Amino acid sequence: EKLVKHYPLGGGFFNRVPLVVRAVEDVSFSVEAGETLCIVGESGCGKSTVARLLMRLLDPTDGRVLLDGTDVASLNKNELRNWRRRMQMVFQDPYSSLNPRLTAGQIITEPVENFERLGRKKREALAAELLQKVGLAPEIMHRLPSELSGGQRQRLGIARALSLKPSIIIADEAVSALDVSVQAQILNLLMDLQEQTGIAFVFISHDLGVVEHIGHRVAVMYLGRIVELATCEALFAKPFHPYTEALIAAAPVPDPSCARLEVPVEGEVPSPVNPPSGCAFHPRCPLAVERCRIEVPPLVPAADGRLVACHVRAPATGAVA
Ligand code: SF4
Ligand code: MG
Repeated sequence: EKLVKHYPLGGGFFNRVPLVVRAVEDVSFSVEAGETLCIVGESGCGKSTVARLLMRLLDPTDGRVLLDGTDVASLNKNELRNWRRRMQMVFQDPYSSLNPRLTAGQIITEPVENFERLGRKKREALAAELLQKVGLAPEIMHRLPSELSGGQRQRLGIARALSLKPSIIIADEAVSALDVSVQAQILNLLMDLQEQTGIAFVFISHDLGVVEHIGHRVAVMYLGRIVELATCEALFAKPFHPYTEALIAAAPVPDPSCARLEVPVEGEVPSPVNPPSGCAFHPRCPLAVERCRIEVPPLVPAADGRLVACHVRAPATGAVA
């Protein structure tokens, strides 16, 4: 709810005002059990900061993270420990996030051992069960991460996240380092696991193809703000926000015969240190009007119920231009 994260920028000043990175500005969304909410946007748009705020790896400058209606900031030490079991993270680079000196079996059972000592027999039984869940052979439990492929390592990362039977997994670019066929296998694995367990995913990616495959709903971020939030189906059928339209147009199309409409987007993503006034997208937007330079467009429901932050495409009255 209304998450904000500002960082001071290395003691820098501009016109005697301390420089601040506005990484996340007023971000609100929810995710239901059994649902996959994707967060998509170019690098530097604040996606990973949102992930870290959700996981409590960072404290928000403002706003709240709630799980089943409980504000995570209000929990005592014991409650927070229990809450950590319910929310797990899968990272982009399975290699750097796995301890190279532990065997696969030790790696995936470690989170459980932080709560209770298992002993060898129980540990191996749990490891075999977790490996089976992610489609790996039980023999792999004795191997080191360096002896496994990228796809196998990412399956290990998922097994590790599953070990505490979490309600929600935050996956930050979890398949981005893998080649396309392995990506598809991992995405299908995640979708199967969701069907079996009702787990919720917050799936962060810059790759629209991946998002279209796995997402139920999508939040599009631009310079720290959500600019459109819609079902996957609606978003890919007809993007409302000019930035979403540009992102989709710029994405490689698997089948070139169904090429998508083109909105050329000029220029680079501006810096979150000194974001443009009004709608931060206005310097790149082909539809920008005077008002866009002055007022930040609120995220409001458009005609079909999706949320859009655009003065032209979703005027605050709710009507679509
Ligand atoms: Fe473009 Fe204006 Fe809409 Fe921003 S508010 S996306 S600048 S039309
Ligand atoms: Mg990132």
